[in-house]
Amino acid sequence: MALTAEQQQEIDAQRGSAHQTRRATVAAMEAQLYTAHPVLDHGLVRVIDYMGDDSAICQAARVSYGKGTKAVSNDEGLIRYLMRHWHSTPFEMCEIKLHVKLPVFVARQWIRHRTANVNEYSARYSILDREFYIPAADALAAQSEVNNQGRGAALAGDEAQRVLDWLIDDARLCYDHYEAMISQDGQQGLARELARMNLPANIYTQWYWKTDLHNLFHFLRLRADAHAQYEIRVYAETICQLVKNWVPFAYGAFEDYRLGGATLSGRALDCVRRMLAGETVTQDSSGMSKGEWREFQGLIA
Ligand SMILES: Cc1cc2nc3c(=O)[nH]c(=O)nc-3n(C[C@H](O)[C@H](O)[C@H](O)COP(=O)(O)OP(=O)(O)OC[C@H]3O[C@@H](n4cnc5c(N)ncnc54)[C@H](O)[C@@H]3O)c2cc1C
Repeated sequence: MALTAEQQQEIDAQRGSAHQTRRATVAAMEAQLYTAHPVLDHGLVRVIDYMGDDSAICQAARVSYGKGTKAVSNDEGLIRYLMRHWHSTPFEMCEIKLHVKLPVFVARQWIRHRTANVNEYSARYSILDREFYIPAADALAAQSEVNNQGRGAALAGDEAQRVLDWLIDDARLCYDHYEAMISQDGQQGLARELARMNLPANIYTQWYWKTDLHNLFHFLRLRADAHAQYEIRVYAETICQLVKNWVPFAYGAFEDYRLGGATLSGRALDCVRRMLAGETVTQDSSGMSKGEWREFQGLIA
């Protein structure tokens, strides 16, 4: 990720200013406010603003007149209880606003998360930068043989080089034509809103994305998961680190109950009970399909 000198200056200027407030702030968030965290080759995530902290969750849960917090152990215990029992509204009292720069095909997955407020860079109004996501060698992977929605090992040798060359050449050619079409040098120049249609899905876009902690956890649960596509997962993982600094108790509970935990079906739970009682349970006697059984085995192995 290369920020221009002007972009870095704007970030530095904002980081240089400070305001006095009575609102709850989090030192670790103040320290990282506005800073660009690189993701992929040209992408980034920046925290632009946030509201609330761990104590705001307790404050809302207790519908308190004051800070609403008690002993640290009480607060952590309450947050874990809320997470464990899906009592989600106290988590909605915390909000975060991010600036994200991401390839368009990642943005298409991301935008499916409807419970957020989004404002995207306008390619009708502005000219897109010549910035395309080109996967690193280890991310240039073959189609998975077991999962239609996944990838296998990295491509090797001539094939890897050929694919890389095509990705780079196609991006360059499409952008050359985009520039030529919008140019007003000796011609009228095609409207930007039309010229953009020949740009490939690996071009970068940007948006401001604001959501509350409950919906952010839902996003992270799905997108920081091993089943999520690598290119969105790396964004989710970056955001996980930011959230860990922001609301350590809430993130700890999320990590334990959601990221690290699992939901068992009634049949799966029955199998666990039978196994604990000493029975040898097989797929045939489990009542589960092959796929369910494979996933269940993966969970308890
Ligand atoms: C690994 C993976 C693979 C995927 N593959 C595909 C795919 O092949 N094709 C595809 O189209 N999508 C795919 N998706 C996207 C997926 O189906 C969801 O659209 C996406 O994850 C957003 O989830 P969400 O709707 O729960 O989130 P949000 O839109 O943030 O909604 C959060 C919650 O709010 C509630 N909600 C929001 N809007 C409504 C509504 N209109 N009606 C009812 N309840 C609502 C629901 O409870 C929802 O869970 C995939 C997602 C993942 C993680």
